[in-house]
Amino acid sequence: MQFTDLGIDTRLETQLAHQGITQPTDIQAHAVPTALAGHDIFAQSKTGSGKTLAFLLPAVQRVMKQKALSKRDPRVLIVAPTRELATQVFTQLRLLIAGTAIKSVKILGGENFNDQIKALRNDPQFVIATPGRLADHITKRSLQLSGLELLIFDEADRILDLGFTEQLKLINEQANHRLRQTLLFSATLDHAQVDALSRNLLKKPKQIALSAANEQHSDIKQTLYLADHLDHKEALLEHFLTQDNVGQCIIFTATRADTSRLSESLNAKGFKSVALAGDLTQNKRLDIMDAFSRENFKILITTDVASRGLDLLSVTHVINFDLPKHAEEYVHRIGRTGRAGFKGNALSLVGPKDWLSYLAIKSFLNDELTFSSVDGLKAKFKGLKEKKPVSASGKNKAQPALTKKPAFKRKTKPKKPTAPIKAPLNIDGDTPMRRKKKTEQE
Ligand code: ADP
Ligand code: MG
Repeated sequence: MQFTDLGIDTRLETQLAHQGITQPTDIQAHAVPTALAGHDIFAQSKTGSGKTLAFLLPAVQRVMKQKALSKRDPRVLIVAPTRELATQVFTQLRLLIAGTAIKSVKILGGENFNDQIKALRNDPQFVIATPGRLADHITKRSLQLSGLELLIFDEADRILDLGFTEQLKLINEQANHRLRQTLLFSATLDHAQVDALSRNLLKKPKQIALSAANEQHSDIKQTLYLADHLDHKEALLEHFLTQDNVGQCIIFTATRADTSRLSESLNAKGFKSVALAGDLTQNKRLDIMDAFSRENFKILITTDVASRGLDLLSVTHVINFDLPKHAEEYVHRIGRTGRAGFKGNALSLVGPKDWLSYLAIKSFLNDELTFSSVDGLKAKFKGLKEKKPVSASGKNKAQPALTKKPAFKRKTKPKKPTAPIKAPLNIDGDTPMRRKKKTEQE
């Protein structure tokens, strides 16, 4: 199948071909025609399966081909939970609209407000934003949304987790007209909080659920290691990092302070790591991400701020130095590897402090987790005694696989599965991603 078969202009198709992208992925094959037909969309598909283009392509196609509702207001607004993710979506958009007259602007927190006002006065058709700063511009009337045609939320559940419900309401009210189309994307959309949001934001949405949030990712090999204490974790980490098959690596820690501490410790041992610590300025954060994407250093140490959306194809390993509290975040963290058809490894260290998180993740993933150990570094710790059953995460439990075959309609909420769920649709099997490594074709 070609992109033009989905209703995408040949000019865009050529642009994609320059990036080594020739065949749509499943989420793109489903979402693009649905969006072009004017439907609202509620879409869930795995990490690394190509959701960004699934919403960018129909958006750009619309702006290129259809008459604008308003000449001044933005036509497309894309909201992403973090500045890094918004920046990445913006970069992908810029590639698509290169050589056209379409204007786009990025509105992030932590950057100069007046510069953003000036950029908005330039009447861009596309605005890519993080929710807090976006709401500030709406309140101060430097951004009008009455002519908005397409409202897109990437990683919608994370936007809610970060507490931006009020901002979302405001955006919704400001762009509240019959002709607005709304698209919602994530790898983990099946919890009650998102249902409530989608009822308010979406009109008769088409459900595109290509995989359940808790389904195994066939391109990511997940292994867990028991650890006794911090020093033991560091010894295991050192062992992993010196293995031959390690390319770039993202290490997740529990707190921001831990990122800096661990980075110093690794660098003292001769590794080249950088911490995405919390006290950095916005520019510094973006510089670090940029340097990492150019492979200027091998190891990035971060917290959940980088768990969502970031697409770095040279990442061969994700290491959970500490486990995340919410099981959904585990799915997103490990999804920083094994993207676009590449294989990846996710290694997780489980010490006494991680045990409850481990139980939550295990239950969320239907028990499909494997432990291993390293010779000479075996843990004495064998797990804490289970007291009470633990719920899957701080939120509602994920629902099982939603469809048997590619379908737009999600069935009414299925019951909790008793057996592991098998993939209803093998994304890589059906439409292989034939993209070369980023570094080779840019
Ligand atoms: P998701 O949002 O689902 O996690 P992304 O949109 O970030 O995934 O895409 C993951 C990677 O796959 C990106 O590097 C992207 O350029 C690449 N990609 C997207 N669509 C295709 C395609 N049709 N063929 C090959 N590679 C693709
Ligand atoms: Mg994404």
